Amino acid sequence: MVKAIVGANWGDEGKGKITDMLAEESDIIIRFQGGSNAGHTIINEYGKFALHLLPSGVFYDHTTCIIGNGVALNIPWLVKEVKEIVDKGVPQPRILVSDRAQIVMPYHILFDAYEEERLGGNSFGSTKSGIAPFYSDKYAKIGFQVSELFDDETLQEKVKRVCEQKNVILEHLYHKPLIVEEELLATLREYRDMVAPYVCDVVTYLRDALKDGKRLLLEGQLGSLKDPDFGIYPMVTSSHTIAAYGAIGCGIPPYEIKDIVTVVKAYSSAVGAGEFVSEIFGEEADELRRRGGDGGEFGATTGRPRRMGWFDAVASRYGCKIQGATEVALTVLDVLGYLDEIPVCVGYEIDGKVTRDFPATVQLKKAKPVYVKLPGWKQEIRGIKNYDELPENCKKYIEFIEKELEVPITLVSNGPRRDEIIRRK
Ligand code: GDP
Repeated sequence: MVKAIVGANWGDEGKGKITDMLAEESDIIIRFQGGSNAGHTIINEYGKFALHLLPSGVFYDHTTCIIGNGVALNIPWLVKEVKEIVDKGVPQPRILVSDRAQIVMPYHILFDAYEEERLGGNSFGSTKSGIAPFYSDKYAKIGFQVSELFDDETLQEKVKRVCEQKNVILEHLYHKPLIVEEELLATLREYRDMVAPYVCDVVTYLRDALKDGKRLLLEGQLGSLKDPDFGIYPMVTSSHTIAAYGAIGCGIPPYEIKDIVTVVKAYSSAVGAGEFVSEIFGEEADELRRRGGDGGEFGATTGRPRRMGWFDAVASRYGCKIQGATEVALTVLDVLGYLDEIPVCVGYEIDGKVTRDFPATVQLKKAKPVYVKLPGWKQEIRGIKNYDELPENCKKYIEFIEKELEVPITLVSNGPRRDEIIRRK
């Protein structure tokens, strides 16, 4: 049985907390895309953690955590993150890294920074983790697979070939120091020793796990609107954030994914540039940012203040559809308790016509939000465990959103802690 947990919005929906919760009922938790460029926040009995690369199942001793072939694997980062959690008292997690995963190279991180510098004001707002150069190289077929680290001859030949190409760009486009072949080789040999304890033929491992009836959880990073095909291109990430990619990103049959838990945030937030129709500004935004999340809406990886907006039913319904959502977890609902009225964006006005369908970026640029206002509940809802005990207007807000999403809301998150959750159906 395979379950996926993914985001319907721009990321930062609170997937970390829900994954941590669902991980308790799973045997194997798998990261299938992205890298260390975004973070999940998890609060549990060991403390507060911002995980970037490790799956959010590392806190349990019954789970195996997998870095799938679809991930951008930053090896020193992996080692650092494991050390960080173990230093805080978490038992050494069981981690497997796919032999087919590709490696974020030191030059990917440099190229990311150089390109942003070159683009200046037109930059993509990259987190400079090397993700875009990494995936570009993967598809240009000059990436390095983990398995290649263990064949020195292949490695030497490839390093030579790749350095030739990279050094032309470094010299003539960026005017930066060149890569020294021997130094790169030495780094890769260090990477080999660091990753060796974790390397596994994940495809075979998961085939056997499925045969044995193990419970798998695919953990997505970011959300639908950051997908390179379905999101707000080009202000997207470089790997697929969609549950369907979960099958490719670890090597399981697509029909095994039975349940797609899609996390939807009760208001909107986004990091980085790009279209954001229901964005709000000024004091209204500052107040929501201050009250949002757990101690304010600031990026878990970058610390950047997040852009804020009201709930966008058009974007979220589309985000759920693209994921193939079978159920929705609605998060950070508690944050909205201060409002007299809560605007919800229910349509986009484009060239004088109102639509409920989320368009491609060119059209999206012209979209203006159409709002309805729902009455607020003016009450703290943290601590409530049963749906029926929620204030009437709060239930109305949830039910309104459920109708707009066209997917059942089965979980309502009313606080950052693992146990602050209301199970609905
Ligand atoms: P992710 O990338 O989707 O995992 O999202 P993040 O973990 O980066 O951001 C979510 C933020 O909201 C974190 O600070 C969480 O601790 C916090 N959070 C998650 N669920 C809730 C909730 O229901 N209420 C509140 N107040 N905060 C939440």
